[in-house]
Amino acid sequence: MYKKLFIPGPTHVRDEILQAQAAPMIGHRAKEYSALQGEVTPKLQQLLYTGQRVYLFASSSSGVMEGSVRQASTKKVLNTVCGAFSKRWHQMTVANGIPCDRLEVPMGQAITTDLVDEALAKDDYDAITLCHNETSTGVMNPIPEIAALIHEKYPDVLILIDAVSSMAGSKIEFDAWGLDVCLAGVQKCFALPPGLTVCAVSDRARERSLQVSNRGLYFAYDQMDKRYETHQTPATPAISLIQALNKQMDDILASGLEQRWARHIAMAEIVREWARKNFALYGDERYLSNTVTNVENTRGISVAGLNQELALRGAMISNGYGDLKEKCFRIAHMGDLTVADIKWLLGQIDDILGL
Ligand SMILES: *Cc1c(COP(=O)(O)O)cnc(C)c1O
Repeated sequence: MYKKLFIPGPTHVRDEILQAQAAPMIGHRAKEYSALQGEVTPKLQQLLYTGQRVYLFASSSSGVMEGSVRQASTKKVLNTVCGAFSKRWHQMTVANGIPCDRLEVPMGQAITTDLVDEALAKDDYDAITLCHNETSTGVMNPIPEIAALIHEKYPDVLILIDAVSSMAGSKIEFDAWGLDVCLAGVQKCFALPPGLTVCAVSDRARERSLQVSNRGLYFAYDQMDKRYETHQTPATPAISLIQALNKQMDDILASGLEQRWARHIAMAEIVREWARKNFALYGDERYLSNTVTNVENTRGISVAGLNQELALRGAMISNGYGDLKEKCFRIAHMGDLTVADIKWLLGQIDDILGL
């Protein structure tokens, strides 16, 4: 049976978007393709409130996380860790032999401006990695404040943002916040099938990249730049997904960005209120995510059992991540889901659990 996905990726994909993916194939060196990339790129710049370059990589987000940290630093990177995904960026930095330190907070807590200040003061760093929305814990880090501090006190430090589970669901002002790299795979808040990553890169991050000798090739910005002006990519792009993305961006912009941010907050507030009443919220209340809520399983229900029952009714939620399995469960309210979808889901859970 078809299950509507209330999991933090891949998310529910509307039929119109699935169909947009089935358009006839075009050659990636043909003018039809250049027209497509030339059309979709300004729409993505609008989404991110930026005049900087936005690249499309045929890769899941992890590839671009690794590729971007490889070309960010000639000195030392500070990796901030507040859960499984931010930890992965640290592991990638280590695996590539890049000098780095980690600033870690316990799961459920946020990375704060004070902690970043204290950590950056300790050594000669020139890049920082931050996860905007830590999907494993349901915490949203205060990126604008952290970025403002870095610009004021550590102007050399490039700001790399994993926005995989927030971009296109929560407002990110790339230029106003002064970000340098901000990336997201399209299977989360963009509500597309997986396989494509959107990545905004500042001019100063592109300049830094040129100073890094072992920056790799596939994800290197200067490689992308060779064909950026002609709206192509060095390797074969994920054409079907870009066709679907172009349609999705039209729909997103037509219904309005502010409306999209507000809908995500409205869905989050409904889930939080329900969780407070029936269970408890896992993360620090001051930094709750707009796109996914991590609910503490205070009733000791079987999360796996709940999901089995939900499957019979055509829905799926997520268990807790890693060690939080069965101790928590996560309800994603991202992408093209609506307030009505969320109310329906919570009604089903109430009915199953007898709440
Ligand atoms: C899903 C997710 C990732 C991993 O993305 P892939 O597309 O699976 O590589 C990284 N970071 C965050 C915050 C995520 O939610």
